[in-house]
Amino acid sequence: MNHLIAGGAGFLGGHLAKSVLDRGGRVVVLDNLITGKKENIPKGADFIQEDVSFWGWELPWRVDRVWHLASPASPPRYRENPWETIAANTKGTENLVRLAKENKARFLYASTSEVYGDPEVHPQTEEYKGSVETLGPRACYDVSKRMGETIVWEGGQLGVECRIARIFNTYGTQMDPRDGRVVTNMVGQALLNKPLTLFGDGLQTRSFCYVDDMVEGLVALMESNDLQATPVNLGNDKEITMVALADTIERVVGSNCGRIEKPLPQDDPQRRRPDLSRARRFLSWSPKVELEDGLRMVVDWFKEIGASGWEK
Ligand code: NAD
Repeated sequence: MNHLIAGGAGFLGGHLAKSVLDRGGRVVVLDNLITGKKENIPKGADFIQEDVSFWGWELPWRVDRVWHLASPASPPRYRENPWETIAANTKGTENLVRLAKENKARFLYASTSEVYGDPEVHPQTEEYKGSVETLGPRACYDVSKRMGETIVWEGGQLGVECRIARIFNTYGTQMDPRDGRVVTNMVGQALLNKPLTLFGDGLQTRSFCYVDDMVEGLVALMESNDLQATPVNLGNDKEITMVALADTIERVVGSNCGRIEKPLPQDDPQRRRPDLSRARRFLSWSPKVELEDGLRMVVDWFKEIGASGWEK
């Protein structure tokens, strides 16, 4: 099958492109490199350097699958690029849905757990409508992702086969070491033997999914025949506090560096854990990689690229 992967020069998109190629698919990556890197595009994939928000790209061949992973994803990156983030998830989603319609292709949208905002319901099921702040530093991402889901639903009304993945925190090799996400921050600090940063009391929770599990989940969702324009949580449902994450990273690195506390960023969610019942039931999928094993792979990869690749 022929695949278009928008955002295929990014962390998740690069892993996805590799996996699709390994399964015998053909891949063209569409990416404007706003947060991605050419090195993330696997050998064998075609590449078009364009913006999803502006229609007019020429594809080398007709496509069967359209994946929309093209959006800045880490808070510092979407704060630097709020307008581009809004455009990528609104106009970009519309453009890619229309492209899927023209090609009679199936479409998958990379939505996010951020559509739940700072949730009052725990763990988060797909039925939960969310508690999202429409004004403030996170809104360009959270709210445009919600709008993106609506656009996908409208695509469904036009007859496009659509899938919506609500992706929870994912980590792994090839993350941009300077993207300001908690795993990369702490691993970099631990390797340099600097105190690990905790925001607030560090008792806020997240659940971290290793990228290989996420890619398996995304592929299963794309190929599922049941879930037309229906959101599906994908992630890992083992919840951990930031204090415990820091301890785990220290253990994996073998360092003992202390902690430094910083004020909690505005609108930072207190708790995050996906209810994965829908994914388990319809996709027969579950995350498998244990946090310590995944972190070990990230630490090894940080060592491989060397401190000049990530030292802040
Ligand atoms: P990333 O920043 O590493 O990758 C995003 C890619 O999209 C980059 O290569 C970037 O250059 C490209 N891009 C951004 N805007 C574009 C545009 N207008 N036109 C063309 N290309 C554009 O981020 P990631 O972590 O790989 O995330 C991929 C997708 O998954 C995003 O949509 C993100 O919102 C979603 N997601 C990721 C996570 C996570 O934990 N990594 C969690 C929830 C949702």
